[in-house]
Amino acid sequence: MTDLLLLPGDGIGPEVIAEVRKVARVLTPDLQIAERLFGGSSYDEHGVPLTEEALAAAKAAKAVLMGAVGGPKWANAPRDKRPEAGLLALRAGMEVFANLRPALCFNALADASSLKREVVEGLDFMIVRELTGGIYFGSPRFIEDVPTGGKRAVDTQVYTTAEIERVARVAFELARGRRNKVTSAEKSNVMDSGLLWRQVVTDLHARDYADVELEHILADNAAMQIVKNPKQFDVMVTDNLFGDILSDISAQLTGSLGMLPSAALGEAGKPGLYEPIHGSAPDIAGQGIANPLAAILSFEMALRWSLDQAEAADKLYAAVIKALDSGARTRDLGGALTTAQMGDAVIAAL
Ligand code: ATP
Ligand code: MG
Repeated sequence: MTDLLLLPGDGIGPEVIAEVRKVARVLTPDLQIAERLFGGSSYDEHGVPLTEEALAAAKAAKAVLMGAVGGPKWANAPRDKRPEAGLLALRAGMEVFANLRPALCFNALADASSLKREVVEGLDFMIVRELTGGIYFGSPRFIEDVPTGGKRAVDTQVYTTAEIERVARVAFELARGRRNKVTSAEKSNVMDSGLLWRQVVTDLHARDYADVELEHILADNAAMQIVKNPKQFDVMVTDNLFGDILSDISAQLTGSLGMLPSAALGEAGKPGLYEPIHGSAPDIAGQGIANPLAAILSFEMALRWSLDQAEAADKLYAAVIKALDSGARTRDLGGALTTAQMGDAVIAAL
C-alpha cells in the first residue's frame, strides 16, 4: 500500500518535490512512495489535469503531497481541463474540508517579518479554516435589478451543525498534539451563523474535549490580536471567509512564500492533502533556484498528521531550523543556495 503519493505538478513543483524525495530517502527509508502526473503535465500526457486513476491512487494513499500546478503554457486550455480544475477536482474527490495554515516564524528569519522581532520570534500557531461551506458556496446568490433603480447583490452564509462540528473536531485534535488550546473565531454578536458556530463548538468541547482549553473571540478582534500579540494563539478555528482573511494576515507575519506549508484534511482516517502555499512560480521554473522548504515542511506536516510519524516530523522540523540557523539561504531569503543545495543542507542537519 502507498503511504505517500507525490504529485509534483508543474513549474517549480517537480523541483521542490525532488528535494522531498531526497529527504524522505534519508529520514523515512521505509515509506512507500508513489508518484503521478498532475496538472499541466498530466494534461500534456493524458489530455486531462487529473486522471481517474491518479485520483483513485490519491484516495487510496495515506497522504498526498503536491508541488504546484499551472503556468502560462496551459492558459488557453479548455476551462475544465486547466491545471487549476485538476486541483479543485482533487480537493473535492478527496473530500478535504479543513484547511490547516500554520503561521511559523523561524528565528533566523525573524527580521524579514512585517512585525518586530520580539512579537514574532518563535511564533507557531495554526489556523484551521473551514474549506467547503460558508458564504462562498451558500445559496441563494445572485445580482438582480431593483425596480426603483440600481441593482442588488445577495450572498448567503449557510453552516450546518455537522459542518461546524467536523472542522472543530479537527482543531481540537490538533491542539491535543500541540499546546492544548483552541481559539474559535466568529461574529456571534451580529450573525446567526456565528451564533450557531459558537454553540456547536462549545457543545463539542464540553462533550469530547474538556481537557483542551477553549476560548471564543470575535473575528475582528482576532485580526487585531494576530498582529498585536500572535504568540497568544495555538490553534484558531474559523469559517471559510474569516479563515481566508486571517490566514493571509498570518502568512505575512512570517516572511517568504517559499517557507510556508499547508494541509487540507477530511474525516479521520482519510488521506490528507499537503502542499506549499506558493504557486508554480513560472518566472523561476527550470532554474533550480526555488526554495524547497515549503514543500519539505509540507512533508513534515504529512508525517505528523497523516502518516503517524511524529518523531520523524520532529526531527525534520529541527533539521530545517538548524539549516536556517547555520545560514542556509536560497535566493528568496537573500542567499545564493540552489534548490538542491538547500535540500542537502536539511539532510546534513538531519
Ligand atoms: P498561483 O496563482 O499559482 O498561486 P502566484 O501568482 O501566487 O501563483 P507564485 O507562483 O506563488 O505566484 O509566485 C509568486 C512569486 O513568489 C514569484 O515571483 C515566485 O518566483 C516567488 N516564489 C514562489 N514560490 C517560491 C519558492 N518556493 N522559492 C522562491 N520563490 C518563490
Ligand atoms: Mg497564489
